[in-house]
Amino acid sequence: MPSPSNPYQWIETSLKTIHKANWYRFVTPITSLPGATIKINGQTLINFASNDYLGLAGDPRLIKAAMAATKEWGTGSTGSRLLSGHRELHRDLEKAIASLKQTEDALVFSSGYLANLGTITALVSNKDLILADQYNHSSLKNGAKLSKANIIEYEHSNVEDLYQKLQEHRQKYRRCLIISDSIFSMDGDACPLPQISSLAKTFNCMVLVDEAHATGVMGENGGGCVEYFGCNGEELIAIGTLSKALGSLGGYVAGSTLVIDFLRNRAPTWIYTTGLSPGDTAAALEAIKIIDNDPHLRQQLWNNVTFVKENLTKFNVFDSDSAILCLGLENAQQALTLADTLRTKGIFVPAIRPPTVPTSRLRFSVMATHTQDHLQKLITALEQYL
Ligand SMILES: *Cc1c(COP(=O)(O)O)cnc(C)c1O
Repeated sequence: MPSPSNPYQWIETSLKTIHKANWYRFVTPITSLPGATIKINGQTLINFASNDYLGLAGDPRLIKAAMAATKEWGTGSTGSRLLSGHRELHRDLEKAIASLKQTEDALVFSSGYLANLGTITALVSNKDLILADQYNHSSLKNGAKLSKANIIEYEHSNVEDLYQKLQEHRQKYRRCLIISDSIFSMDGDACPLPQISSLAKTFNCMVLVDEAHATGVMGENGGGCVEYFGCNGEELIAIGTLSKALGSLGGYVAGSTLVIDFLRNRAPTWIYTTGLSPGDTAAALEAIKIIDNDPHLRQQLWNNVTFVKENLTKFNVFDSDSAILCLGLENAQQALTLADTLRTKGIFVPAIRPPTVPTSRLRFSVMATHTQDHLQKLITALEQYL
């Protein structure tokens, strides 16, 4: 029994358990601009831990845009978009996102997490069904829970299982929403979007795909997996973030005029939260301009991904469709030890452990701005320690 005088006693016990399982987490301060190399504790490290796939978060053009917008519009937007928080800059960004995603319209949220919570809760409720990939991101899972819809998970990217579950359950519910990461954030593989989309049509379902790791990376023009799979023009709702390849902060929903108009009226995480800051908004807008005008950057990213993949085939690397490459390891301790060893060799890579994922791994994010020398150092180090 916990001491009757201390209602927080259980937290200490819980933290001890976390320590014992090697699940304890802590933060590490980076003391340089974000980029292909970073400084931690005075040591320069090659950075394989960042979602900044195109190296834009430290790009002088984004910094300049953010500073100019901050000078002109201030540091904060001061209120909800519906009250005092709206600037023409927000609308410019939404139009640019809609153009990049080839949708009719888009809506900018304060983060990708909030975009998922707000959109899912607006679209479905207790009379409805959500079919969700078991490996979905936390924001999709929590959005589903918050919506009070009935949630059924299907096996990871298993179209046959999704079909069976639709067959068995769809008719018992009013609306149905299928939700999936487009690139799975902790594995790097792509969802079978064309098949999901086709099942959705058959069973009269809405589809929401989370393009957080795909936007700016996947597809001929950086439009994401929707573009990559040629699913533009289908009635999909695409969610994403401004904080990964776009190098800023914030999230978005892209879809039909109808859906976006509805969300402006019904998404609580958009209505009851402060509009994106002018600096973040301007940086994301600048990033989209660069993505539009500089396909070379994306080409460089894919050249780097291909090079690393080709040189790691002898190791237990997961099948990947993206710039996320995972090296599977036996357990959390092994993952932590290897991450520590690599760090002493100047390589920064996170160990991803349960409960975030079912099995421990090192998760390498390749960047467009990694040089051949950076990548070669990684390969040499892995060959030495594995
Ligand atoms: C990072 C991520 C999010 C959250 O985006 P933020 O803008 O960082 O809140 C949502 N979904 C997926 C799949 C992600 O990887």
